[in-house]
Amino acid sequence: MNALRLASLNGDHLVRSVISAGNVRFGEDFVVIAGPCSVESDEQTIKTAQEVKAAGANMLRGGAFKPRTSPYDFQGLGLQGLKILEKAKHATGLPIVTEVTDPRDVSWVSEYADVLQIGTRNMQNFSLLKEVGKLDKPVLLKRGMYSTLKEWLNCAEYILSAGNPSVILCERGIRTFETYTRNTLDLSIVPSVKETSHLPIIVDPSHGTGRLSIIESMSLAAMAAGADGIMVEVHCRPGEAMCDKDQAMSPDMFGGLMKKLTVLGSCMNKLNGKSLHRLGAGEP
Ligand code: PEP
Ligand code: MN
Repeated sequence: MNALRLASLNGDHLVRSVISAGNVRFGEDFVVIAGPCSVESDEQTIKTAQEVKAAGANMLRGGAFKPRTSPYDFQGLGLQGLKILEKAKHATGLPIVTEVTDPRDVSWVSEYADVLQIGTRNMQNFSLLKEVGKLDKPVLLKRGMYSTLKEWLNCAEYILSAGNPSVILCERGIRTFETYTRNTLDLSIVPSVKETSHLPIIVDPSHGTGRLSIIESMSLAAMAAGADGIMVEVHCRPGEAMCDKDQAMSPDMFGGLMKKLTVLGSCMNKLNGKSLHRLGAGEP
């Protein structure tokens, strides 16, 4: 394999990248991104945004373009969904993370997103990577569900080499023989990324496990492993979620998680002797 020129932690890149999106700094603070799997309505998105903001989230997530396994499932609201996210941002001040699935949509989706997400199914969509590489906006690059660390970092390299230095990695689980969980959340990738790349890495335990009952422990474990943040799915009425309802946290559950992250964050600060794991808005 050709050596990575821009994604690796060596040569010109001996210092870890800090990537800003609004008032959020990936690689410095422990960033908590929360929100629904998909944007369904004004009321659902704004209510969920207000609840996660009150609990201490730093960014709002929500899909307007949903890459679904079945073509008959809800595909997202598209432009209307982006406009709803804009209203939720206005109502709460939370910057927005949202997925883009088609190279032709990148430039106009970027007018609504503070961070553009590339989903697991598109990790190796090289035309899409080259297109987001032209932007002056951070990209959240999810790990392909069948991909190795090298393949993943090479995809980051596509974005970096096209001119965009702001790439955040996101572990979201990989396919293994295990079926109890939706995917196998590979937390060993967090310190592995830290020793090979300067890019920040966050963890998505919602898609990584698909099981509501273990999202909290995996979120805490992600922080303990040295992740720069987490992204979790929260819905104001989980039972009604149009997408991924089995893994949607209620606002109460999310509030409980934030309290535990705050406690663990201060332990991690003591261990590290610095504020690598400082929780943004949730810090006491
Ligand atoms: C998502 O975060 O909305 C999503 C679809 O995740 P993934 O690409 O990891 O399946
Ligand atoms: Mn989802």
